[in-house]
Amino acid sequence: MKTRGKRNKPSINLQIFISMIALSLIIIALIWTFQMMFTKAIFKTVKERAVDKTATDIIDNAGNASWESYIAKKTSDHDVSAAVFEYKSVGSIEKIYADEDATITESQGNEEMLSAWFYSAYANDWEFTPVKSSSEIVFVRVFEHTVDTTPSWYMVIVNTEVTPPSGTLLAIRSLLVALSITCLIVSVIVSFFLSRSISLPVSKMSKKAKSLTLYDYDVSFDEKGPREIAELAVALNSATAELKKLSDTQKELIANISHDLRTPLTMISGYSEVMRDFPDERSPENMQIIIDETARLNSLVNDLLTVSKLQSGSQVMNLKAVSITKAVQDTVKRYEKLLEHKEYNIVFESDCEVFVSADETRLLQVVYNLINNAINYTGDDKTVIVRQEVYDDVVRISVIDSGEGISEENLPLIWDRYYKVDKVHKRAVLGTGLGLSIVKNILLLHGSRFGVSSEVGNGSTFWFEFKIEKAQDI
Ligand code: ADP
Repeated sequence: MKTRGKRNKPSINLQIFISMIALSLIIIALIWTFQMMFTKAIFKTVKERAVDKTATDIIDNAGNASWESYIAKKTSDHDVSAAVFEYKSVGSIEKIYADEDATITESQGNEEMLSAWFYSAYANDWEFTPVKSSSEIVFVRVFEHTVDTTPSWYMVIVNTEVTPPSGTLLAIRSLLVALSITCLIVSVIVSFFLSRSISLPVSKMSKKAKSLTLYDYDVSFDEKGPREIAELAVALNSATAELKKLSDTQKELIANISHDLRTPLTMISGYSEVMRDFPDERSPENMQIIIDETARLNSLVNDLLTVSKLQSGSQVMNLKAVSITKAVQDTVKRYEKLLEHKEYNIVFESDCEVFVSADETRLLQVVYNLINNAINYTGDDKTVIVRQEVYDDVVRISVIDSGEGISEENLPLIWDRYYKVDKVHKRAVLGTGLGLSIVKNILLLHGSRFGVSSEVGNGSTFWFEFKIEKAQDI
């Protein structure tokens, strides 16, 4: 059902195609609407401005030697018609210039009307618009011009059509039709290439990603192409690398766990069988071996449980004020007792008692694991130093051994679950490979800083820090 639902969703190709076509149609519709609504109005405004400008230009150049040819040029530039008259006296108006299409040619000789226009303009701030219809405009302006100290009055009449000629409209429409068709064709072509450039890498990627679900982690995603796709490829590549690492670790983990479980189990079953079949072998030593191996199994299973609980986040921290000094001291003492006969020298150095906020059980686990490792890995002098140092409001516990140390390349790895530097399990050093992973997870949950410094041949120093709640002299 789900798959069919996904299939029904439109592809990126189709979505881009539809969007581009829709966008082009909207643009075409807008252009057409504008053309229909505003062509006439814009044409009219342009013409009105041309009329005004022509009148102004003619007046500004009044009296120039080539005034008439100037008027002819201006009217043809602005595609309007004009006529110029000189006002002599009442009822006497003399024509100076008139275009063929000037309004005045129709009313030639109609001096009465010209006089009326002259007076109307004269009385109305020197301007008068006798005709202003939806198709035509006639504009009159009067002005005074002085020639050789004799002032004279002139009248300029500019007229023009204000509706675009049908030929012009037809030309605009044909242009728009061509533009609309070109726009549609271009959007089809662009959407084709655009969708290809986006969908092709995405579909390639999804094909490869499918192989991840089949546990094939050898795929690699092409990091070329647009930025988002390249970023996705980078993210997928690093996720694949992580998955591969995880899968390798998991395989190793299972191999290690089964190896470690099998060893004590073989011992237990072997010794039990021997003791069952040979009554002479039922000695306390043999019994002890079975008990020891059972304890080893127990601690392995417990460690595994702790790690998985800590990592799943289901572990609740029970924080309270704990004397870290006492916790470390008690652990050291317990070890001293345990190793009494083995000539180990475990030294605890501290000069005050420090209280921190921690989950006591978990804190003890950290201390126990670090001291345990130090004892297991320390050198022939069999010495382990546990040091408490106070810096301002921070206490640092360091566990120092004199063992073989850890190489630089292994240092970051030892905190990983089940990582062992020496993959060949030595019976002499018993370890589950989980100790440091437990330490790390507990310290992370406490928000503590921790680390290790080590040099091959010179031992290791494992340390962690807690914020001090209270400190007092011992
Ligand atoms: P293990 O149970 O094997 O000690 P840990 O998680 O405690 O597991 O440690 C992981 C690995 O780190 C160990 O196998 C060992 O190789 C290395 N290691 C830990 N502590 C020390 C140390 N004090 N000196 C040298 N190597 C150490």
